[in-house]
Amino acid sequence: MTNVTSTWTEPSNTATALLLLGRGTDPASERGVDCPGDLPAPSDPDLVARATAAKAALGDRVFVLGHHYQRDEVIQFADVTGDSFKLAQQAAARPDAEFIVFCGVHFMAESADILTKPEQQVILPDLAAGCSMADMAVLGQVETAWERFVDLGIAGDVVPVTYMNSSADIKGFVGRNQGVVCTSSNAKRALTWSFEQGSKVFFLPDQHLGRNTAVLEMGFDLEDCVLYDPHKPGGGLTDDELRDAKMILWRGHCSVHGRFTIDSVREVRERVPGVNVLVHPECRHDVVRAADQVGSTEYIIKALDAAPAGSAWAVGTELNLVRRMALAHPDKQIMFLDRTVCYCSTMNRIDLPHLVWTLEELVAGRVPNVITVDEQTAANARVALDQMLALP
Ligand code: SF4
Repeated sequence: MTNVTSTWTEPSNTATALLLLGRGTDPASERGVDCPGDLPAPSDPDLVARATAAKAALGDRVFVLGHHYQRDEVIQFADVTGDSFKLAQQAAARPDAEFIVFCGVHFMAESADILTKPEQQVILPDLAAGCSMADMAVLGQVETAWERFVDLGIAGDVVPVTYMNSSADIKGFVGRNQGVVCTSSNAKRALTWSFEQGSKVFFLPDQHLGRNTAVLEMGFDLEDCVLYDPHKPGGGLTDDELRDAKMILWRGHCSVHGRFTIDSVREVRERVPGVNVLVHPECRHDVVRAADQVGSTEYIIKALDAAPAGSAWAVGTELNLVRRMALAHPDKQIMFLDRTVCYCSTMNRIDLPHLVWTLEELVAGRVPNVITVDEQTAANARVALDQMLALP
């Protein structure tokens, strides 16, 4: 368990009301899934003891993965913490665990299912824990775009690249079309490899990671990038725009990282002289340009761990992680880049009541919320994932 002793001041709250976690269904939300079980009350004072007892009873049969953006109350029960790719690799490295309880979001559990043995079961404690970015690229929309490339005669020049934060369907599409998966750590290597295979890249689903990598790390111009909007006829692009483009970016973004603005950067620089602005590459292009450093979640953690005592950091990533880093490093001034609360609402769906319910169900011999990717999709997705692992 992690003990933190420092203090943390929550940024002021927004007027946005969230569904009470695990209680009720919002049909207008990305998944609108209700929990099928009888959840313990969040106020139950025995939740920690119940989770501890259930996990101990399961022993090596269960392996709990915790994404860096998860709540502290959940992270304390994780056998390993990490970003989405590290967690999928960790799941694959535990072939003896019968159950992989994935405290993260849906696409991560899918990746773990693809990479683990068929007899292992991957469980997502709350099925409503989706990812709004992953949900912005639906297979039918992507196939429609690809058909347009075929009609235009450019499909043979286009290499599809999908960010890890995408559904198994999209990874499968990319595998079927000789493309590659990338993470925020290896996006440059993935693009370099892709431009050796073809003259254009079709980047899914995060426009910002695609644009930031192409322009800031690969030397492309902004004019080399076009934005394909699946909600507009033909993606909102002319034939010539598609023919001339080097990077065809899907119009998707992270609703958390997309909130940081250039004004957030200016404001913190005025308020905290000498502050270092450190952001994730899922942030908008102008924000990344204005920052001092940009890097993946793992990069951000290492940079803050290595920072000298007394240094000041404004961090543009998910608030659970920034808060945890601030508490772990009381000798450094670590703050959230924006003044507004910016938790990932779907990551936060996984709370202690859902984890307790999941573990106790397993103890009782019932396996809830299993995430399964069909064999054909998994085989195609594995091609794109293996290509990523083989990147030079
Ligand atoms: S932080 Fe963004 S990319 Fe990550 S799960 Fe939440 S919405 Fe998806």
